Amino acid sequence: MRVFNFSPGPATLPLPVLEQAQAELLDFNGSGMSIVEMSHRGPVFKEVAERSEACIRRLMSIGDDYVVLFLQGGAQLQFSSVPLNLMGKNPVADYVDTGIWSAKAIAEGKRYGKVNVVASSEEARYTYIPEPSTWKTDPNAAYLHYTPNETIGGVEFHYVPNSGDVPLVADMSSTILSRPLDVSRFGVIYAGAQKNIGISGLTVVIVRKDLLDQAMPVMPAMMGYALQAKENSMGNTVPTFAWYVAGLVFEWLEKEGGVDAMAERNQRKAAKLYGCIDASNFYSSPVAENCRSWMNVPFTLADDALDGRFLEEADAAGLSGLKGHRFVGGMRASIYNAMPEEGVDALVEFMRDFEQRVA
Ligand code: PMP
Repeated sequence: MRVFNFSPGPATLPLPVLEQAQAELLDFNGSGMSIVEMSHRGPVFKEVAERSEACIRRLMSIGDDYVVLFLQGGAQLQFSSVPLNLMGKNPVADYVDTGIWSAKAIAEGKRYGKVNVVASSEEARYTYIPEPSTWKTDPNAAYLHYTPNETIGGVEFHYVPNSGDVPLVADMSSTILSRPLDVSRFGVIYAGAQKNIGISGLTVVIVRKDLLDQAMPVMPAMMGYALQAKENSMGNTVPTFAWYVAGLVFEWLEKEGGVDAMAERNQRKAAKLYGCIDASNFYSSPVAENCRSWMNVPFTLADDALDGRFLEEADAAGLSGLKGHRFVGGMRASIYNAMPEEGVDALVEFMRDFEQRVA
């Protein structure tokens, strides 16, 4: 039996995607071999790669002035790739500090140049987003980095901050494709695949072409956006299976109605869950109301001695992966695109029932 899986990532995938991958695993498209056994440079994989890129370009309306890279290394390697690729001419960058992932990006950025932390909510344990009008930005920075959705804290920007002429760089690992986005506002967007794109092992990086000549000379060649752009991401052997699965997820998304339909569904799912939390004296959300994430919903119980029992009973009810991150405690429900609305309904019903029984 498949359970509702609320893990933050690797996360649940759409069932039709898994079924298609299973059906095609031994013999891909009559080639007589698996997609994971063939050359990444051969014609069969090349078509898979091109279809997948074309599909994400349609989904996100990505213009020709951007390259889309499919790379190894995870989102955290981008914490290094971004400064290495963008600080070559100007080793000064602005960072907004809204959570654990922002803080890790900042720590990594500091290895390569001067980092200005323009605003931070650390003093409030990252439960809100500092008002952009208070950010102490540098108009000459090489870029402004922020984390649109903090996967651990459950804090999400519901707008794109204005960075003026400074290229805006975003770690969209846990929010990409969850809603429409004006890509033209960004210099670089990167996202680990294991939440809204597919499986781990792949990182999608979208780079505005005019930023491809700003790299630091010490940059490892394979981390170079320009090199990977020139090689169609094939500077080294690409994560073929993860790229293929990403393509299946993009096509599923398109069939489901694209990012507009996802936004509607995600907002509705989140509203149901926050509604349940807010209607009760037993559950609470630590996050300020104007920046509550649609993707990751942390919540605590009135008595943390009940956490273990909540998790055990949830598991028994087919609701998996709800243990919160130790930084916040309590629970966290990750409800990415692939989490069906029925999963959220089942969770809400379980939460109400649990509260009635124990409170
Ligand atoms: N940034 C964010 C916002 C994340 O949620 C995560 C993973 N949870 C990471 C970075 C790190 O990703 P990876 O493990 O792929 O390096």
